[in-house]
Amino acid sequence: MRVTILGSGSEGNALLLESRTTSVLVDAGLSYRKLVQRFDAIGRGVPRELSAIVVTHVHGDHAAHASTYATRFGCVVRAASETLGNLQLRASVAREAFSVGRALRIGDIMMRSRRIPHDAPQVALTFETKDASLGLVTDLGHVPKGLERFLSDCETLLLESNHDPEMLATGPYPATLKRRVGGRLGHLSNADAGDLLARLDHAPREVVLMHLSETNNAPHLARCSADAALGHRGTRVHVAHARKPLELGAVRQEQLQLGL
Ligand SMILES: [Zn+2]
Ligand SMILES: [Zn+2]
Repeated sequence: MRVTILGSGSEGNALLLESRTTSVLVDAGLSYRKLVQRFDAIGRGVPRELSAIVVTHVHGDHAAHASTYATRFGCVVRAASETLGNLQLRASVAREAFSVGRALRIGDIMMRSRRIPHDAPQVALTFETKDASLGLVTDLGHVPKGLERFLSDCETLLLESNHDPEMLATGPYPATLKRRVGGRLGHLSNADAGDLLARLDHAPREVVLMHLSETNNAPHLARCSADAALGHRGTRVHVAHARKPLELGAVRQEQLQLGL
C-alpha cells in the first residue's frame, strides 16, 4: 500500500492510500488548492479516480472540504454514522455511513474502525490489503483500554504525538485551550504516544508521528519519545509535517514494479 500524507496537524489533514486497485483519501481538511499544491510538490497530480473519501470526525481540520473533494473527485463520502449526520455536505454529495466496529470493504482494502476518546465522535482506523496493513490513530485525548490490540497487526502505524506537556503548560495558549488540548478528550501527548508504542506486542515496521502541534511540540521531542519507547526494535520513525507532504511505501512499490 502506498501512503501519501498531504498534511497533518491543526492546519488541515489529508492522506491518500493507494493499493493495487483502490485509492482512498482519508480526511478532507486541506483546501482543494492546497491539496493540488501538495501533490505538485512531490511531482504528481491529484488522483484521477477515488473509491471513497473517508472522514474520521467532524472537526474542520479533518472535514471542512469534504464537499469540495467529493464534487471534484465525483466519489462518495464515508464516515461513521454518528459523524456523517453532522458533516456539512452539499445535497448533491453521495454519502454512506459505516458502523463503528464492523469491517468495511472498499475495493481491495478492508477498513476496520474503533471509537477513541475525543471531544467529537472519533475513530481509529486500520486499512488492510493482502500484503500490507496500516493503522491511523489521531485526535484522541488518551489511549483507551484495548487500543493496542486493535493495532496489533499494523506494519505501519500513523500515530498522534501532539504535544509536549511542559511546552503546552508554559506556552501561549489560553488556559481553557490548554485544558482542552491536554484533557482526556483532547490530543495525545508525546509521552502517551510512547506508552502506546511500548505496549504493542509487535513493533510496527514504520511509525509516523502525526498531528504535531506547531506551538506546543518540536519534532525532535516527539521523535525522542517514540525512539525511547520503541527501544531497539528496528522500527523506522518518521515525523509528518503540517505543510509538507510525506510519502511512504513509494520505494517499495517502485522496486516491485522493476522486479527488484
Ligand atoms: Zn485534528
Ligand atoms: Zn479533532
